[in-house]
Amino acid sequence: MPARRADPATLADAIANGDRAALARAITLVESTREDDRATAERLLAALLPRTGGATRLGISGAPGVGKSTFIEAFGLMLIGAGRRVAVLAVDPTSKRAGGSILGDKTRMPRLSRADAAFIRPSPAGTSLGGVARRTRDAMLIAEAAGFDIIIVETVGVGQSETTVADMVDLFLLLIAPGGGDDLQGIKKGIVELADLVIVNKDDGDLAPAARRAVADYRHALRLLTPAAGADAVEALAVSSLEERGFDKVWGIAVARLDAARASGAFAARRRAQALAALWRDIGDGLMDLFRADETAARLLSELEGQVSAGKLTPSAAARQALAAFRRG
Ligand code: GDP
Repeated sequence: MPARRADPATLADAIANGDRAALARAITLVESTREDDRATAERLLAALLPRTGGATRLGISGAPGVGKSTFIEAFGLMLIGAGRRVAVLAVDPTSKRAGGSILGDKTRMPRLSRADAAFIRPSPAGTSLGGVARRTRDAMLIAEAAGFDIIIVETVGVGQSETTVADMVDLFLLLIAPGGGDDLQGIKKGIVELADLVIVNKDDGDLAPAARRAVADYRHALRLLTPAAGADAVEALAVSSLEERGFDKVWGIAVARLDAARASGAFAARRRAQALAALWRDIGDGLMDLFRADETAARLLSELEGQVSAGKLTPSAAARQALAAFRRG
């Protein structure tokens, strides 16, 4: 079984031929923090690169309980019914601390995880959001090379994770649920600025009136936030993931947005900007790792930190000294 060996070229071929074990193995490889695995992963990604970039990349964010997994499962199955192949990845920097990921868990999407045209991968364990983001970006490329043409990246609304996901997708969907006295939660938290589409879930049964009210509130607030309502203005609409209603509208808006962005060049520009931003973020993360591992700087830093906290040295002067010590090695 060629895919069992970590030979990048063989693994790349197996992935391109739809070997699911090879796909899972490749993602495990890019998630590894071992230096030799990193080198193999880079060769693998280089071999796969010509096959990447063809998928539609969707981000979905929402607080716990709004219905993300219910939505993704039903929405994903609808897309599969239309002949698409759907990969679901997750970005959840808290997963390690919580002792297990709450996102991308297969048991949350049992029907979708059984579908041949679906691939679900939980959030990689990682201490830093940067590390989780890099691995998810790499996993996305591998899933694309394996022929998945819709990639859904799911995140829960914690800290900077929404920004991280918005920075790796073509379209960012914010999922909210009505009621709970926390309407307009997305606007308060500033997430709406990242969203291309606000989806109010649970538009059914007793919750339907509240869902409709939430849509009206969001539409109103979005108009105030983005007065120059053009083709790419943020829209709000209601769906019921439980009753599988409203998905065609979501998909219709998504496709129209993406088509318009492709035609105007905004799509390619966004992808280019994302790739360059990822490059610089990884350089930043890498430098930070080197800096933290540097013993000379570390020794000096404990002293500098003491002086800065005591107000005896300015942070900028301390940073300059620490960096100078780091450069001298
Ligand atoms: P997540 O934490 O965001 O992934 O949310 P889940 O998908 O696990 O859903 C949380 C709860 O909301 C579950 O009890 C779901 O059955 C329920 N739920 C999800 N979507 C809907 C919906 O469209 N309508 C209603 N009434 N309940 C829903």
